[in-house]
Amino acid sequence: MLQVNRRVKEMLGSTTLAITARAKELAAQGHDVVNFGAGEPDFDTPDFIKKAGIKAIEKGMTKYTPSIGTVDLREAIAAKFQKDNGLVYKPSQIVVSCGAKHSLFNIIQVLVDDGDEVIFQAPYWVSYPEMVKAAGGRSVIVPTNAASGFKITPELLKKHITPKTRILIINSPSNPTGVMYGKEELAKLAEICVAHKIYVISDEIYEKLIYDTTVFTSIASLGKAIFDLTITVNGVSKAYAMTGWRIGYAAGPVEIMEYIKKYQDHSTSNPTSISQAAAVEALKASTESIDQMCQIFKKRRDLMLACLDKVPQLSYIRPQGAFYVFCNFAKIANSADGGSVAAVAAKLLDDVKVAAIPGDSFGAPDYIRFSFATSEARIEEGIKRVAGWIANQHSSLKV
Ligand code: PMP
Ligand code: GLU
Repeated sequence: MLQVNRRVKEMLGSTTLAITARAKELAAQGHDVVNFGAGEPDFDTPDFIKKAGIKAIEKGMTKYTPSIGTVDLREAIAAKFQKDNGLVYKPSQIVVSCGAKHSLFNIIQVLVDDGDEVIFQAPYWVSYPEMVKAAGGRSVIVPTNAASGFKITPELLKKHITPKTRILIINSPSNPTGVMYGKEELAKLAEICVAHKIYVISDEIYEKLIYDTTVFTSIASLGKAIFDLTITVNGVSKAYAMTGWRIGYAAGPVEIMEYIKKYQDHSTSNPTSISQAAAVEALKASTESIDQMCQIFKKRRDLMLACLDKVPQLSYIRPQGAFYVFCNFAKIANSADGGSVAAVAAKLLDDVKVAAIPGDSFGAPDYIRFSFATSEARIEEGIKRVAGWIANQHSSLKV
């Protein structure tokens, strides 16, 4: 039998990537697939960013850069943190990696040792538990529900802290729920983390995709004590439609960032030099392209919610940010499919060619995640197919 590393053996595959790939494969075979699986903007990277990439190639910026990213890019990131988030990081406190996923992976490998506990809530982004497993740590998953707005309360956090707790992961706006933490809520969580000396990883990748009035707050901006315990993660993938360029970054206490540098030095070295040059232009530009995309996403969110409102068996929590609606399918699964929402998601793809991600991958098995990073026409078509499929199931059950 093939012998592989125990930790890697225990890791699960990424459902988000698998279903997105399957939807693309079916579409390539000529099927009319509505892809609500996608965890990426459907927009093209703005032209001025593409041109910066082309210019970088022409100028010969095709060599290794410092492993942690060019000075230009780290300065642009430092300026972004100061301007947008009120966070003062020196370029030496910033490490650029191959996507925010890579930044998160690095941080967790550096901070988590055998048996250390990492707290985050369910519903969670698929990769957190697997990254913790890769480090030999233990995920302590705090259950949250729609009634409590899918958020960790101070009481819930306290209840899950043990002497082994090392890290709390916060992801606001959240994938998969779109829920955001307000400043007061973050301040209360920060106070507990400071009291217990728990590091915070703040995954802020959806910061630029916010549709309602909740103001975005970086937890690290809430005082010196929490700043010193937080590693803030962000990237250009979602805000600038640059998922394929693979640029993410992390900033935090210099001693931690030095370990992350060492880890990256021996694994990937620098992220692509050309992508780094393009990311500099993205971060330095006015917010025009971001604002335009955000307005389109808001219209799509409203449309998807309006379409879902016409399906009485489904419920959701209104997403304030990101580009997902996390939809409760418990009523459907109870009446069809032996209670399994994952089976419903599989049938939606097989029967009506609607791709979406089953909630069990996010630790919430009653749910399905619909991404609205697709056109309004496809949103209407897709939810119509879902509604039709549900109506069909119900009428066939009644027969
Ligand atoms: N965090 C969350 C919550 C995400 O949804 C994603 C998207 N894949 C990432 C981090 C990583 O994004 P990327 O690696 O493309 O920067
Ligand atoms: N974050 C996106 C998602 O959740 C992209 C896929 C991934 O990297 O997992 O669908």
